[in-house]
Amino acid sequence: MERLYNRSYFFDQGLHFECQRCGVCCTGDPGIIYVDRDEVPRIAECLSVEVSLFIEKYLYPYRAGYSIKEHSDGRCFFYDDGCTIYPVRPDHCKTYPFWFENLRSVKKWRRLSRECPGIGCGPLYSKEKILKIVQSTMGAVVKSYLADNEKIYYSSE
Ligand code: SF4
Repeated sequence: MERLYNRSYFFDQGLHFECQRCGVCCTGDPGIIYVDRDEVPRIAECLSVEVSLFIEKYLYPYRAGYSIKEHSDGRCFFYDDGCTIYPVRPDHCKTYPFWFENLRSVKKWRRLSRECPGIGCGPLYSKEKILKIVQSTMGAVVKSYLADNEKIYYSSE
């Protein structure tokens, strides 16, 4: 883990970010909005819906957890002129844009900054803070990886 922090990245001096609540990342092209199984009860509770009904109505299975359903135009089911579950939104949304795939190269980050007006604004996230956020998302990635391999294992029998 120490190696992760000692390495040099394009964000060694940190990155500025502050969400402008524009909704660009919650709308547009369809995509995965990952919800870990552990996160389901808190969102269902916020909506005062039974967990099973919440899953049936708003989610579909994705890897080790779920993804939130989207409208036909790609808009998240919970986006209605703003995020309607903002205080309990999934970690996948909370950690955006500091996702592993977005931080792989400065080119990727710059491309993303053309879509997300929050990039370059607001407080400075230090390298350490960014790496911590990225690490916090890795649990879901690992679970997904294990689930995928489980599927591969079973299907190859
Ligand atoms: S695109 Fe960026 S600024 Fe807009 S809602 Fe998403 S994170 Fe916030």
